Amino acid sequence: MSSDPVIVVGGGVAGLVVARRLALAGRAVTVLERADVLGGQVVPLPIAGIELDAAAESFATRGGAVAALADELGIAGDIVLPNPSPAWLHRADGSAVPLPAVGVLGIPGDPLAADVVRAIGRPAAWRAALDRALPARVGRDAASLGELVRVRMGRGVADGLVAPVVRGVHSREPDALAVDVASPRLRAEIAARGSLAAAVRALRAQAPAGSQVAGFRGGMHRLVSALVADGRRHGVVFRTGVTVTEVTADGVVADGEHLRGRVVRATSEPSADPRQLTLVTLVVEAPALDAAPRGTGLLIAAEAPGVEARALTHVSAKWQWVREALPGRHVVRLSYDGEPQDPVAQAAHDAAVLLGTPIDRVTDAAVGSWSRGVRGPVDDLPSVGEGAAGTGLASVIPHAERVASGILTGP
Ligand SMILES: Cc1cc2nc3c(=O)[nH]c(=O)nc-3n(C[C@H](O)[C@H](O)[C@H](O)COP(=O)(O)OP(=O)(O)OC[C@H]3O[C@@H](n4cnc5c(N)ncnc54)[C@H](O)[C@@H]3O)c2cc1C
Repeated sequence: MSSDPVIVVGGGVAGLVVARRLALAGRAVTVLERADVLGGQVVPLPIAGIELDAAAESFATRGGAVAALADELGIAGDIVLPNPSPAWLHRADGSAVPLPAVGVLGIPGDPLAADVVRAIGRPAAWRAALDRALPARVGRDAASLGELVRVRMGRGVADGLVAPVVRGVHSREPDALAVDVASPRLRAEIAARGSLAAAVRALRAQAPAGSQVAGFRGGMHRLVSALVADGRRHGVVFRTGVTVTEVTADGVVADGEHLRGRVVRATSEPSADPRQLTLVTLVVEAPALDAAPRGTGLLIAAEAPGVEARALTHVSAKWQWVREALPGRHVVRLSYDGEPQDPVAQAAHDAAVLLGTPIDRVTDAAVGSWSRGVRGPVDDLPSVGEGAAGTGLASVIPHAERVASGILTGP
């Protein structure tokens, strides 16, 4: 095993995980981060005297890697589950219904279930049920999730259920999302079970019982603080406000300085067609929201009249700790493709329409802009993060752990 010092380029969660793991094994590690703060997409949002999350606010529980890391860092006791009430769907006609309960990415496991019929209407539900009668091969070569759902279940499900969910979860249109990226096991399950609905039921049955996502009391960014504190304890050197401009044969050039060491990329290079996403967080006074009229939030049909947002999270209904931190007030977070002209005014308007209640007063607001879409590794260097692992902490963290192990056991 080599004992060269290691330079980790990028101080997002992936870079922090790999740096800590290498330092625990006794390697000298420096993290170089372009921004003034560590954490990348997991950073705090100071608002109304508390800290929420500026972007990622939860993690998928699948695989257990995030909880295992939290345990090592001593913060597993602060893992919290969201309120289990359902998300809602704001439909193209402006009305709202709870999102059907049994589904994957909006695809129903039972197209004729009462909540599906309520959401898309009886004719569309009957069309979707034809999926059962189609040979398994129909849709096998679909170029996208949108096409697969359309050919098997029809437009009602594709446009009315899947599109709002995929836009809200993946920030893209179902026609621009490859089936295997959306759900890696879906094609195999259709082949094995004979229909899309049966595949969805099988995927749901395989998912572990309990909540599929969790968060931390005090925000997801607590994971970053804990990683940094533990990394420091084990000797990691963190340098912020430093941009790496070149990787050389024996290290990197960062702001004109040549640093030597084995390089690990943790930078998430943008894809050729990155999408801009704007998040508007509002702290509001609106007593009618105490009853959480739309559960933990809504996904929104693109054609919904008079609303520009594509998703709304009722943050203080979703997370008990937020509700306790801001008594008498509510937090809502709205996301937009691109940036609305007047984001705060637009978000206040949209929140009132979507939640079906006047927003009496916005006491605090914050607007953040994020670029979505990364490309895969750009060279042969060890690479961690979204580009190499896929989006989301449940993918990024175990992958970074594996890459660190590979470095430690490799030549
Ligand atoms: C709005 C939003 C909501 C999200 N919600 C969730 C969620 O709820 N749950 C979930 O699991 N995931 C969520 N994600 C995704 C998740 O946050 C990311 O998948 C994960 O944080 C990516 O970590 P990373 O380390 O790969 O990349 P990043 O966090 O992007 O870190 C890369 C770092 O590299 C730095 N860098 C880049 N180039 C250089 C350079 N040349 N020199 C030095 N430094 C450089 C960047 O400044 C950055 O800090 C969300 C993302 C966004 C944007």
